[in-house]
Amino acid sequence: MGIVCARIDKGAIRVKYEVINRGDQVSAELATKFHQLAADEQLIHDPVEPDIVVSIGGDGTLLNAFHQYIDRIDHTAFVGIHTGHLGFYADWKPEELSDLVRCMGRETSLEDKIVKYPLAHVQITNEQDTQSFLALNECTLRGFESTLVAQLRVNDEDFEMFRGDGICISTPSGSTAYNKSLNGALIHPSLETIQIAEIASINNRVYRTLGSSMVLPRHHHCDIYPRAGRNIVLTVDHLNVDIGNFRSIRCQVAERKVRFVRFRPFPFWNRVKEAFIGDLLE
Ligand code: NAD
Repeated sequence: MGIVCARIDKGAIRVKYEVINRGDQVSAELATKFHQLAADEQLIHDPVEPDIVVSIGGDGTLLNAFHQYIDRIDHTAFVGIHTGHLGFYADWKPEELSDLVRCMGRETSLEDKIVKYPLAHVQITNEQDTQSFLALNECTLRGFESTLVAQLRVNDEDFEMFRGDGICISTPSGSTAYNKSLNGALIHPSLETIQIAEIASINNRVYRTLGSSMVLPRHHHCDIYPRAGRNIVLTVDHLNVDIGNFRSIRCQVAERKVRFVRFRPFPFWNRVKEAFIGDLLE
């Protein structure tokens, strides 16, 4: 059964939207269909200042859309349709496309349909300056062609000397992504936290790391100082960041949040169950 949106003839706002698709044939065709249905519902196609960005593809497509509209995230909300398997951000099915357009066309106020999820604020300092990034899923720091050796400081106090493949700092909504493969905990996105998970740390009689992931609250921060002279790869979500003569990185919960538009409930733990457990329960 399709989604039922209240039929409101008077007072409906004219939602401005943009569609971003993965580029494969199925996603591109769905995007074309979306535009046709949107015209029937009198939605306004506005790629510059959209109220809603509809991502068609997978979670990676939504990550891409988020970074494309990062300067507008206080004004733009996201919604994702998956054309492969169910995604965490891409949680509408292709056959629900017309339901989604109808919901957008009959909306009287978007604000009460918005949920906001925490982001990670990543500050990278090199010899010249400090650059800031926002991560929707995570930021990773990995050694390139050698072990990552880095001093970790939490709230300006030495914590440990990390040795291993790398470190992953994830948001709550990103906790189900790379962080989960590292045995990090799944964190509900209503909790304003970042999680620091180890990527294959070296632990023996000589080297010691915590060995567990850590969850930091909003008012804490973590600094990572890699040992000089090592090659390092830094990613923010799906993007490789050019770090130049990199000195340190500071991670904390961001002031800004990402906005998702929710026209129907799909609780986080239900998504976790559908994505990772399926129907195997007896
Ligand atoms: P992609 O779109 O192929 O994504 C890779 C997989 O990660 C997909 O199955 C996607 O559904 C899933 N994914 C992404 N965000 C998720 C989330 N928040 N919760 C649950 N699953 C999620 O590839 P991409 O475009 O390069 O995406 C980048 C993301 O891939 C990174 O942000 C990282 O989280 C993830 N990744 C995971 C691993 C791992 O699990 N070992 C390794 C590298 C990257």
